[in-house]
Amino acid sequence: MNSASPHGSALMDNYGSPTLEFETGRGSELFTADGTRYLDFAMGIAVNCLGHSNPKLIDALNQQAQTVWHTSNLYRIKQAEKLGQRLVDNTFADKVFFCNSGAEAVEAGYKVIRRYFFARGEIHKNRIISLRNSFHGRTLSAIASAFNPVHCDGFVVGDAGFDQVDFGDLAALKTTITENTAGIVLEPVQGEGGIRPVPKDYLASIRALCDEHDILLMFDEVQSGVGRTGSLFAYQQLGVTPDLLASAKGLGGGIPIGACLATAIVAAPMTAGSHGSTFGGNPLATAVGNAVLDELLSDDFMLNVQHAGFHLRSGLEDLVAQHPTLLSQVSGLGLMLGLRCHTDAAALIARLQSAGLLVVKAGGNSLRFLPALNVKHSEIDEALAIIERVLSEYPEQT
Ligand SMILES: *Cc1c(COP(=O)(O)O)cnc(C)c1O
Repeated sequence: MNSASPHGSALMDNYGSPTLEFETGRGSELFTADGTRYLDFAMGIAVNCLGHSNPKLIDALNQQAQTVWHTSNLYRIKQAEKLGQRLVDNTFADKVFFCNSGAEAVEAGYKVIRRYFFARGEIHKNRIISLRNSFHGRTLSAIASAFNPVHCDGFVVGDAGFDQVDFGDLAALKTTITENTAGIVLEPVQGEGGIRPVPKDYLASIRALCDEHDILLMFDEVQSGVGRTGSLFAYQQLGVTPDLLASAKGLGGGIPIGACLATAIVAAPMTAGSHGSTFGGNPLATAVGNAVLDELLSDDFMLNVQHAGFHLRSGLEDLVAQHPTLLSQVSGLGLMLGLRCHTDAAALIARLQSAGLLVVKAGGNSLRFLPALNVKHSEIDEALAIIERVLSEYPEQT
């Protein structure tokens, strides 16, 4: 049985049939086997935060690879304890659980929320509210919470304990909160949904509602975290502190790792045996995670992300001004930027790819720019020049 797949691969067809393949990567560049160069402003979807083949990450990986890779959580892991402590020292959190992906970090957060009220004997408080147009990953609970029909059809049974309200609709949120509501989950900057930062006053109102109704507030910073927006986590610029936070993507610089962060009170019911992950926090992943933080926590790193973000943003805004029939507006924070289009975003992305620039599609007919956090200004200029050239070749512009 080797004829099942239209493109002759044994892989399931859930990713479609991509044809472009890369052989090597360096910094913000990717190269195909025939040496064709691409400027990578997708970075494995906000994962390779320090670019491809970063020498410091390679060193950390090599060193750990020659020591010990994996022992399981039956034994103490000092690299994980160190990474956890640094996340605690630099955020609201007191406790960290490590896993291997964003969806698992989200899932852990949902479990912590339910367990918190369970431990207090308030078992009726078990429902979680999310915002429409969110993305929280692809596990059953993650898709049930975001409730995007494209992701849920054929998978989710009932409402699985989740409610949804429209982004920005505070009145709807108020009426959706019941005595059964245990948590509210949101992305401080929506990623897949189209790079939409949550307005500060709306976020503050949600925090106030949580406090008033004894509801836990969880931020999904799987995409917006780890320096992406110009601070270690986006919430640190938004004036609102969560009770729990999910992190992943950039945290390992390309090595799979996720983390669920929580305050001490919220994490207290996660007693021995309550949750676990075989791979979670293993020495290899956490050694690289520590090397990522060595860079991100160094002097001026975030300042440079902010400067690069301003540079890219103002360039994109110029392009919007020059091509108002094709482009609509720029959104986002730091180096998590969206470009909303009037023209078909997927077609523009394909043209950019042919011209040597990789970006990611997002909801709302938009492009997502997620370059390496250490992207050079000259590389940003080059990306802008590619976009400019591609746009100027659009038929409706000539
Ligand atoms: C990517 C993403 C996830 C899921 O992460 P995976 O590692 O793919 O499981 C969850 N939430 C947000 C906001 C994301 O961007």
